[in-house]
Amino acid sequence: MSDTDGKKPLGLRGARPGQVKQSFSHGRTKSVVVETKRKRVVVPKAGAGAKSAGAGSGKAGAPAGDPSRRPAGITDAEMERRLKALQAAKAREEDEAIAREAEERRREEERQRRREEIEAKEREEREREDALRAKAEEEEREKREAEEGRQRAAEPASEPAPADPAATAPVSERAQARPAPRKADRERQADREGRGGKARDDGGRRSGKLTLKEALAGDGGRQRSMAAMKRKQERARQKALGQSAPREKVVRDVQVPETIVVSELANRMAERVADVVKALMKNGLMVTQNQSIDADTAELIVEEFGHHVVRVSDSDVEQVIDTVEDRAEDLKPRPPIITIMGHVDHGKTSLLDAIRQTSVASGEAGGITQHIGAYQVKSESGAVLTFLDTPGHAAFTSMRARGANVTDIVVLVVAADDSVMPQTIEAINHAKAAGVPMIVAINKCDKPDADPNKVRTELLQHEVVVEAMSGDVQDVEVSATTGMGLDQLLESIALQSEILELKANPDRAAMGAVIEAKLDVGRGPVATVLVQYGTLRRGDIFVVGEQWGKVRALINDQGERVEEAGPSVPVEVLGLNGTPEAGDVLNVVETEAQAREIADYRHQAAKDKRAAAGAATTLEQLMAKAKADETVAELPVVLKADVQGSAEAIVQALEKVGNEEVRVRVLHYGVGAITESDIGLAEASGAPVLGFNVRANAPARNSANQKGVEIRYYSVIYDLVDDIKAAASGLLSAEVREHFIGYATIKEVFKVSGGVGKVAGCLVTEGVARRSAGVRLLRDDVVIHEGTLKTLKRFKDEVKEVISGQECGMAFENYEDIRPGDVIEIFEREEVERTLS
Ligand code: GDP
Repeated sequence: MSDTDGKKPLGLRGARPGQVKQSFSHGRTKSVVVETKRKRVVVPKAGAGAKSAGAGSGKAGAPAGDPSRRPAGITDAEMERRLKALQAAKAREEDEAIAREAEERRREEERQRRREEIEAKEREEREREDALRAKAEEEEREKREAEEGRQRAAEPASEPAPADPAATAPVSERAQARPAPRKADRERQADREGRGGKARDDGGRRSGKLTLKEALAGDGGRQRSMAAMKRKQERARQKALGQSAPREKVVRDVQVPETIVVSELANRMAERVADVVKALMKNGLMVTQNQSIDADTAELIVEEFGHHVVRVSDSDVEQVIDTVEDRAEDLKPRPPIITIMGHVDHGKTSLLDAIRQTSVASGEAGGITQHIGAYQVKSESGAVLTFLDTPGHAAFTSMRARGANVTDIVVLVVAADDSVMPQTIEAINHAKAAGVPMIVAINKCDKPDADPNKVRTELLQHEVVVEAMSGDVQDVEVSATTGMGLDQLLESIALQSEILELKANPDRAAMGAVIEAKLDVGRGPVATVLVQYGTLRRGDIFVVGEQWGKVRALINDQGERVEEAGPSVPVEVLGLNGTPEAGDVLNVVETEAQAREIADYRHQAAKDKRAAAGAATTLEQLMAKAKADETVAELPVVLKADVQGSAEAIVQALEKVGNEEVRVRVLHYGVGAITESDIGLAEASGAPVLGFNVRANAPARNSANQKGVEIRYYSVIYDLVDDIKAAASGLLSAEVREHFIGYATIKEVFKVSGGVGKVAGCLVTEGVARRSAGVRLLRDDVVIHEGTLKTLKRFKDEVKEVISGQECGMAFENYEDIRPGDVIEIFEREEVERTLS
């Protein structure tokens, strides 16, 4: 008892658990349990004795010093000596016990260490074996699956393979698949169990597949959970994708011009292009990164990404151009600018020449005249008139389309012997669309069969009421050949011009419109500019469309060099850095840098616009425009149909469409193919072209593509009217848009026996002919049949498609009236959801 009591304070305290808090980066902490081994404190022998003795009342000393328990016959000294000896022995004993214990402990520790070492080794070995076995198993399984796959393929009727291949595999195979525990394994198992508690779930009992990598990657045998592996993989994947950690969102100010390429938008937002494309798709817009989108769409996307939109206007860079309104007192009268229009061969060119010959402005009749695109003449009364000598509506509309409304008065030439013809009507519609007053010149009145009154009456049908019919449109009987009535015509024009009170300020930086431009071999780029206000002088720096320059020389319509040109004066301008286009506007600016900057900017903008083309004048956009701008409450359309009857029926139906907000306005309608002239008119007025059972001819198609004019084809009046109705009410639903994927011309028609019927030998002239696509048969650009193909053959073989330039055989399903020269239009339909609105 005293032994244990005495040993207690001296013994090893043993391991005592404690907790340590570890801090890691990102504020994570972790509590770790640590075992603290207290140092053994050995109390000196003497001290121990002194302590016991000195204390007197110490438990150790009490029995020895107790006289009552002292054996008889022993002196105090003896007693003292014996006691000391006893104490010494006891202390020795104690020391020995402590040393023994320490030794024992040391040995135990050593044993433990060795055990751990062996265990670790064994574990390693086991894991390696497990891995190899797993690999072998994997390979075996794959082999077996392949085998089974083969078998299954060989016996398609056989029962489905059981889920566990081991269950049905032959015994030998089963043994291979699940190796019986070997001796070493059994021993280890026993060992583990013997040690109890320490047994670990090893590979043999693992659930799920163990791969080699997994086995080798284990740190010290601790198996990673499936979730941990997944997390690791995910981290690696994220890292590979460059998204190591969710970055803090930077909100940017994104400049959005009127059109922007998708990749550039992504760039400006510092977002990934793929994300931007995805966002656009989510908004129903299927675009690639190289396509352009408009500012509204871009704004939506920018906001979706959480950035700020900064809309920049196209004109920001152009603000240096002087656009200050003139004060009324600065305005001075200017000559009118006249365009001559009319049906072909009604005498436009002859009339222009005749006028020029008789009354050139300089008065020097017979002088060398130079065609620069326009000229000036003086009427008898002294009025100066400027004629554009590019007759016809093509020039007129293309100019107007480019924003250059240069014409003040239209002279409509109608031959008295031919009266009103289709192009006469077109011209009337063009003039009306532009809101330009008209003067009718009834030409060829020298001819015996001339019937001016017939012209006047027929014009009535087209809402042109001439003065002779008590209307307000001036009409003059003329003859370009004899010169009859020319003076009167000029006076009529002068009168009309007075009514118009045409004025401009000549004392400001010049602005003009290009009416003709060419690249002259000797002189470089040359443009004929009709000055509209201000005065253009030699040495002026200007920007014109996407070009710029410094006026090197000015040449008038007489071929003379001049120093300056005022309002309504046409001059040839030399000194351009490139060739502009007819209709481009010329503006004088202060510095070359400004001119160059504007030109560069316009060049880029034009490029962007071209990229975004194809959707410039869609019905939807027109309606959006009409809604945004309340003054545009008109929905203009150009209509072409296969026969007069349907054209009239459609026009009547369209006129009924609309309410107090919107009205449909048929700018022009006619019979036959859609021509370039129709496209021009549509572009100038921002109208779509509606084709009813007719097609645009090739030049018109190209022109429409270039200008972004929408052509809609219909074969059911109801559909057409419905679409327009929907557009007018702003409810244009998902539309079925047709894509023409190709055109083929029929070269020959064969009669094939055996129920095949007539087969057309064709040449694919554009795109591709596809067996599955829809087809229409066109004769003179008019649709005569719509359906599907029965066959598409190339050299006897049925094929899926035939490309442009190749010949093929085609036959229509249930249709036989095919003729050489007919054109087959191949189209595909695509449902287009309404774009962002
Ligand atoms: P454009 O196609 O409208 O420019 O017509 P042109 O000026 O080329 O004229 C067509 C044809 O009509 C030419 O052969 C002219 O000679 C003829 N022509 C033009 N004006 C007159 C006219 O006033 N009287 C007669 N008899 N013939 C004319």
